[in-house]
Amino acid sequence: MEWRLLDTPPMTAAENMALDDALLELKGEGRTPDTIRFLQFAPRAVLVGYHQSVAEEVRLDYCRAHGIDVNRRNTGGGAIFFDENQLGWEVICRKAAFDVGVPTPRLFRTLCLPVVDALATLGVAADFRPRNDIEVDGRKISGTGGTESGEAFLFQGTMLVDFDVETMLRALRIPVEKLKAKEIDSIKERVTCLRWELGRTPTLEAIKEAVRRGFERRLGIRLVPAGLTAEELKRFRARLPFYRSAEWVDPVRRPARPRETLQGAAKFEAGLVRFTLDPDLRRNRVHEIFITGDFLAFPHRALYDLEAALRGADLDPEVLRGTVRRFFESGALQIPGMSADEFLRPLDQLFEKIAIARTGLPLGHCDRISPANGSFAEVLCRRPSVLLLPYCAKPTDCDLRHDKSCRVCGREGCTVGRAWQAGTERGMRVTTVVSFEDLWAELMRMRVAGEPAFVGCCCRPFFTKHAEDFARAGVPGILLDIDHTTCYDLDQARDAYAGTFDRQTELAVELLERVLEGIA
Ligand code: SF4
Ligand code: SF4
Repeated sequence: MEWRLLDTPPMTAAENMALDDALLELKGEGRTPDTIRFLQFAPRAVLVGYHQSVAEEVRLDYCRAHGIDVNRRNTGGGAIFFDENQLGWEVICRKAAFDVGVPTPRLFRTLCLPVVDALATLGVAADFRPRNDIEVDGRKISGTGGTESGEAFLFQGTMLVDFDVETMLRALRIPVEKLKAKEIDSIKERVTCLRWELGRTPTLEAIKEAVRRGFERRLGIRLVPAGLTAEELKRFRARLPFYRSAEWVDPVRRPARPRETLQGAAKFEAGLVRFTLDPDLRRNRVHEIFITGDFLAFPHRALYDLEAALRGADLDPEVLRGTVRRFFESGALQIPGMSADEFLRPLDQLFEKIAIARTGLPLGHCDRISPANGSFAEVLCRRPSVLLLPYCAKPTDCDLRHDKSCRVCGREGCTVGRAWQAGTERGMRVTTVVSFEDLWAELMRMRVAGEPAFVGCCCRPFFTKHAEDFARAGVPGILLDIDHTTCYDLDQARDAYAGTFDRQTELAVELLERVLEGIA
């Protein structure tokens, strides 16, 4: 069977996105050949995933100052940085060719294996990593994503030929002015590229030839080089203004009243799901709701349709769950590798926060509270007896930074002293958590000692990542967000885990005091 090999010259992000749209739509209408496309970007570009927000993911000022395009992909997944060191590859074809209704994890594997073969030809032993990456010894060399239109789908991937880690970190929303060589090294442990693997950079032509052969062999097709058809060119030109517009790049998918919102998030194999809810507590309705994340969702508009269906709904967990389940069960929303139950997990956190708001705490405070093993009210009723404070909030030059104690020395700029005092005044046992192992040991100690409950302070990413560990420990507790750049922002989570994160965070002492006041 013959397919087209479309090798487009380097284009702007908007041009590449507009062409993807034109090719996929025409394929969906059955008016273009099945195609493998190679794509490149000039100038360099940051592309957020279809379900992500530019404001949350991209450092716009840096990108503008350095001539980096910012655009949105038609496919889901996380934000990526695309420079001349990367080669994009795409499969645009009939669903019937693979006998699938929507792209599935099995299809992802089928479409990644040709690139795995291509890497082998180039001398790199790679493998497919579910859900949709290609890796070399645990390090990602090609990320992929897909979308669909009518009877066709588009599946795309990037091949990292070389990798400018620093520019990528600066372009994406990570406070990299603070980044040091060792943090960049930790990224290098998770990502790789052809040059690092081979010690040289193969020519683009050699890479394309290897990928071409990989697809021919694995899919049993013959790729015939050809350009765009007149119809494709026409549709591409018609679409281009839209893909250059703010309406596409940064659609207003942010709450109009950000201070009035609550967020719930959960991370799974298939990606992170974040619900941002603006509740109308007086009328007991959903005022606005936004669902974002780096998962792949089908059909294309499914999330927007779901948000529309939830807007104005009763603020009742069963009503909202029912609507989401109907979307999943009817196929109106499909997320490869993620179940409806998983997708709904952030909703539990939201309703927990709504319950807290009904106790009279301002919404802004409620969004920073995460109960574990019981509701906020239940945990407070148990009269928490232990207060856990993270070492990262102690000054970096405090001699007790890595010690479990604090002498409450009154030092300005240290929130730990105030929090320590607030806890001891209420008769709590206050201690510092100095590593993840130490946290686990504290939780186990509390369980064995039959402590009724605890209050702890940690950053939200830590709680999102370890929510299941807290549940597993089984001790009722209330976790309060901390302020400032966290080790997750700085890609230093591993250091934090080991207790060696070397920056100072700040505890939300006012919030802590309000919560401690509520202990019966
Ligand atoms: S109050 Fe702060 S600076 Fe003083 S001993 Fe405690 S942690 Fe260290
Ligand atoms: S994960 Fe990092 S920033 Fe968060 S509480 Fe622990 S050390 Fe602090």
